[in-house]
Amino acid sequence: MIFNKEHELVRKLAKEFAENELEPIAAEIDETTVYPKELIKKLADANFFGITMPKEYGGAEADYRSYVIIMEELCRKCASTGTYVSSPNSLMGAPLVDVGSDEQKKNYLMPMIKGEKIGSFGLTEPGAGSDAAAIQTTAVKDGDYYILNGRKTFITHAPIADFTIIFAKTDESKGIKGISAFIVDKDLEGYSVGKPENKMGVRGSKTSDVILENVRVHKDMLLGKENKGFLTAMKTLDTGRLGIAAQAIGIAQGAMDEAIKYTKERKQFGRSISKFQGIQFDLAEMETKLNAARLLTYNTALKKDQGLDASKDASMAKLFAAEVATEITSKALQFHGGYGYIKDYSIERLYRDVRITSIYEGTSEVQKMVIAGKLLK
Ligand SMILES: Cc1cc2nc3c(=O)[nH]c(=O)nc-3n(C[C@H](O)[C@H](O)[C@H](O)COP(=O)(O)OP(=O)(O)OC[C@H]3O[C@@H](n4cnc5c(N)ncnc54)[C@H](O)[C@@H]3O)c2cc1C
Repeated sequence: MIFNKEHELVRKLAKEFAENELEPIAAEIDETTVYPKELIKKLADANFFGITMPKEYGGAEADYRSYVIIMEELCRKCASTGTYVSSPNSLMGAPLVDVGSDEQKKNYLMPMIKGEKIGSFGLTEPGAGSDAAAIQTTAVKDGDYYILNGRKTFITHAPIADFTIIFAKTDESKGIKGISAFIVDKDLEGYSVGKPENKMGVRGSKTSDVILENVRVHKDMLLGKENKGFLTAMKTLDTGRLGIAAQAIGIAQGAMDEAIKYTKERKQFGRSISKFQGIQFDLAEMETKLNAARLLTYNTALKKDQGLDASKDASMAKLFAAEVATEITSKALQFHGGYGYIKDYSIERLYRDVRITSIYEGTSEVQKMVIAGKLLK
């Protein structure tokens, strides 16, 4: 059995939270792009920002299966919320826990888990997306400081973040072995963010560039060892990809919920459209694919809980879950006919939200590169 009684309780709590707190305002968050501060507080109070984080720093120290369950249930109602929950649990939390100093954990991890600080993860650049090793941002040592220059792009939560983990080149001659990670406070001189992007989906999470112009970062803000930053980034993305797989299956389940409800209600040719075998066969295939994606995702979480290497599994789960979820959401919209094209129906939002899952934290093509790389090593 992958799950125990505690996991069932976690699912019940997350489901109730999603139904009571997210469902009523998900459409408004999408429309206005404003994510309410009170909701951030409620998520923090439920300890959803510290699901897998150590108790010592205010986390719940729960397992990855609990993390996946919570992401899935929250994203079933509001995919934007998934970005707020995954960030402290994976992209931001994982490197801080793994290689952060005690001081860094106290000053950044703890307040992030409490919902008092928001962080962002700055790897991608205009010229370095899938090829993350091609980053051009530099960090040049100057006494006790590093001087950072460069531009990061598409950074989730950058417009509201208190700090960003920036990946920069500390030794140009060493390629990926010359990249380091830094915690950069938003108040430092020379740090600024671009205009929030006008996005297709997950519109409750603001995304923008981060611009670094001669930003002086103290050496104590180096996250992990100098020149070991790329390793930190890749390790972090393993956990991140598990979260995105869970986000995808959550959105797909939301689409299934809508598909079942609507096809039973909608009558054409004198009967509910759910009575047509063409629709039933599609529904059966969608449900089967969704459950296959779910099992890949749960299995990845289980392997991580067992301390096993789940890097290939995380890529397989993200690849499959994102692709299948995109297909399911598209079919669910098709069942709605013209109504699916109208914003009053939540399937329209789910269809837009799901699209990011096969793009961020490594496109589907990049996941294939990771999987094949592991097979052929
Ligand atoms: C909403 C949003 C939020 C994001 N949040 C963050 C964040 O918080 N932090 C962060 O650092 N980044 C973030 N990103 C960036 C994201 O991870 C990148 O957009 C993604 O990795 C792809 O990079 P790219 O956009 O430059 O596309 P490119 O790398 O230019 O890719 C273009 C296309 O070419 C394909 N391709 C590239 N190389 C190959 C190859 N070798 N073989 C086959 N196909 C290939 C890709 O799969 C893709 O289809 C975010 C992006 C978005 C849109």
